[in-house]
Amino acid sequence: MFLFKTVKDLHNFVTLYREKGNTIGFVPTMGALHEGHLSLIRQAKKTCDYTVCSIFVNPTQFNDAADLDKYPRTITADTDLLTSVKTDVLFLPAVEEVYPPDLDTKLTLDFGQLDQVMEGAFRPGHFEGMAQVVKRLLDIVQPDQLFMGQKDFQQLTIVRSMLQQLAMPIELVMCPIIREKDGLAMSSRNRRLPAADRQSATLISQTLSEVANQINEKTPTVLIKEAMETLHIPAFKPEYFAIVDGYTLQAVEDFRESDFVVACTAVWVGEVRLIDNKILKQPK
Ligand code: AMP
Repeated sequence: MFLFKTVKDLHNFVTLYREKGNTIGFVPTMGALHEGHLSLIRQAKKTCDYTVCSIFVNPTQFNDAADLDKYPRTITADTDLLTSVKTDVLFLPAVEEVYPPDLDTKLTLDFGQLDQVMEGAFRPGHFEGMAQVVKRLLDIVQPDQLFMGQKDFQQLTIVRSMLQQLAMPIELVMCPIIREKDGLAMSSRNRRLPAADRQSATLISQTLSEVANQINEKTPTVLIKEAMETLHIPAFKPEYFAIVDGYTLQAVEDFRESDFVVACTAVWVGEVRLIDNKILKQPK
């Protein structure tokens, strides 16, 4: 695996390989890698000639400085994992490489309601920072395909809007959520869960599955109310449980309203904030 730390080196590599007619797949991450991330790399390797993975803990998307400080950093283990799945390139830039002082990387895109609801309502500025870093990384890597996880469904929806608004010729590929055996969605944050909380955290995916099983019997309003009640256990603080249209992210009042419906939730489990979602109706 090649390791590049500067924009210049990465750019030279990608330009050379592209000139030879190769396609580039890109998997942006914040490190502390797990099987979820590796599934994106595997998917990229299936369809692209070269796969670039970036590890960059982006300061501009953290609205909470303590969260940024506590974000796990495990670069040695990450490098081993990336090597084990035969990643071609690891891009590991410092903050100054991504945000040089003389470069204006701020974006002024309007995402309408997409970045106002759910995560947007609870993490002000988060999506602005996320879109800023994804745009910057895409400008550097210039991939043909971008691989992102359904795990961060709202993030992916906003990136899709950004690609459309900027007419960037990049295909966005959504990869399914990889879960632990007991259903907990894999996340870099899971490693911060104490054992008891780790066990209780399975309630999140269980609740999403229960909701999915009842869409023919109950309305979204009733299901949301019941899910919020289920998630109100002592160690938990559910922030939201929403049932939304998968394109607009607006609340769905009736399951017949939309052919693409997703249940999304964010729950504090002790000190750790976890998100998860489940597609309730899939477009044909
Ligand atoms: P992160 O390092 O958390 O920024 O995630 C990097 C990419 O990995 C994003 O596109 C995530 O949606 C994706 N990802 C994170 N967890 C999972 C998972 N459990 N299954 C599939 N993709 C995931």
